[in-house]
Amino acid sequence: MAAETEDLTAKYEAVIGLEVHVQLATRTKIFCACATSFGAPANTNVCPVCLGLPGALPVLNRAAVEMAVRASLGLHCRVNPVSRFARKNYFYPDLPKGFQISQYDEPLAEHGWVEVPAAGGGAKRIGITRVHLEDDAGKSIHDGFRDSADYTYVDLNRAGTPLIEIVSEPDIRTPDEAYAYLTALKETMQFLGVSECDMEKGQLRCDANVSIRPRGETKLGTKAEVKNLNSFRFARLAIEYEIARQARVLSSGGRLVQETRLYNADTGETVSMRSKEHAHDYRYFPEPDLAPVRISAEWLEQIRADMPEPPAEKRARFIASYGLREYDAQVLTGSRELSDYFEAVVKACGDPRLAANWVTGDLMGALDGKPIEESPVPAGRLGELCTLIAKGEISGKLAKEIFARMVETGDSPGVIMEREGLRQISDKGELDRIVNEVLAASTKQVEQYRSGKTAVIGYLVGQVMKATQGQADPGAVRELLQAKLSS
Ligand code: ADP
Ligand code: ZN
Ligand code: MG
Repeated sequence: MAAETEDLTAKYEAVIGLEVHVQLATRTKIFCACATSFGAPANTNVCPVCLGLPGALPVLNRAAVEMAVRASLGLHCRVNPVSRFARKNYFYPDLPKGFQISQYDEPLAEHGWVEVPAAGGGAKRIGITRVHLEDDAGKSIHDGFRDSADYTYVDLNRAGTPLIEIVSEPDIRTPDEAYAYLTALKETMQFLGVSECDMEKGQLRCDANVSIRPRGETKLGTKAEVKNLNSFRFARLAIEYEIARQARVLSSGGRLVQETRLYNADTGETVSMRSKEHAHDYRYFPEPDLAPVRISAEWLEQIRADMPEPPAEKRARFIASYGLREYDAQVLTGSRELSDYFEAVVKACGDPRLAANWVTGDLMGALDGKPIEESPVPAGRLGELCTLIAKGEISGKLAKEIFARMVETGDSPGVIMEREGLRQISDKGELDRIVNEVLAASTKQVEQYRSGKTAVIGYLVGQVMKATQGQADPGAVRELLQAKLSS
């Protein structure tokens, strides 16, 4: 079976395009003033507009448009000066209006891209076809009630929550690339403050379009759209399964049909749900109750100016202007807060490499997986510590000791050094005296050194460090010992 699958992946190439829905982090819904808060009692965040009552008119939430534009810019899209809402008509119990307000042939933004790490090193661009605005439906609740066996309940709190749909080009070739693409999208949305992308709260939802074709073929094959992917991990597994399934069908002489399939996380399989619906099934038509969305050049520039730097750009800048290694730049742009923290340390000490080492090393070790927002050491304090190291006032070893106290107390390095008598012995005379004492007490080792066994100096350095309780600079101690021993 494993060998057979391998054979098939050598023969066929997968083609994948993802449709991702992201819930925008606005306080209120897209067409009414109801709250978007998660976890409110069922059917309390509702009004005539989001309940779809006759005569209620939608009013577009400006904050939702701004966030959607920010997201589009972060995905390097062209934002259209005019876009239009359209009704997508279908019946479902959690859709009281009987239609979704979406965008169809005139979307908010188009022609963008996202970069993901390429399999052979470097980066690969995945095209973004479009980003459009739409409203969310409510939620059907199939279990959890005493009579759930007989009834389905509907909670309309989510109805009217603003979403963007991000449609990718069919540029993705492997399940791993799909995973990387989703990770990059999520990271970008979080960085830009567009969405928290908490999948457990349904803030990011993904459908995968999958087809295969013989390697070398340029025409697209017949695709299946896989729904119900509740995590990035499931998305990867579902795509893997789907590629193998399609390859088996084709290689055994079968034919694929365009269809919608559902992923079952318990079995790890996809099962056919319905044959593919087509755009004309939805009878799209322009939304008569909303004016076109107009984004002036001034507004667009304003949004661009107020927008945080997207993660990929930030990473490139960390490498180019701070001289960081790719890996450190990657780690330090893991969240916007972490990158801000790092830059504050750099600003305080003026040494980016040193700051990177301390943040990715000792600080992240102390955080032990907790987010940087919970750091017991404020960025300014770590900056002070790095400044002392950079100026050569404390050794790396002493710095580690001071840092441990900073984690415990949150105090500044200066205060800790004062209070605990932790300081570098830079007084030449004092160090000289201690070195002489150690040499006098180690006649055997001194003899060994003079007869050519110079490695014994390590022992002598150790003795001096012990006598100073680690408060001497080991480099300076070694030099002083060498000078005395060879005179
Ligand atoms: P539909 O009309 O079925 O909605 P679209 O052309 O709008 O199809 O594309 C929807 C998504 O499917 C996009 O992400 C697109 O990249 C992807 N896609 C389109 N054709 C294929 C294909 N043959 N194989 C894989 N993905 C595809
Ligand atoms: Zn409402
Ligand atoms: Mg489509």
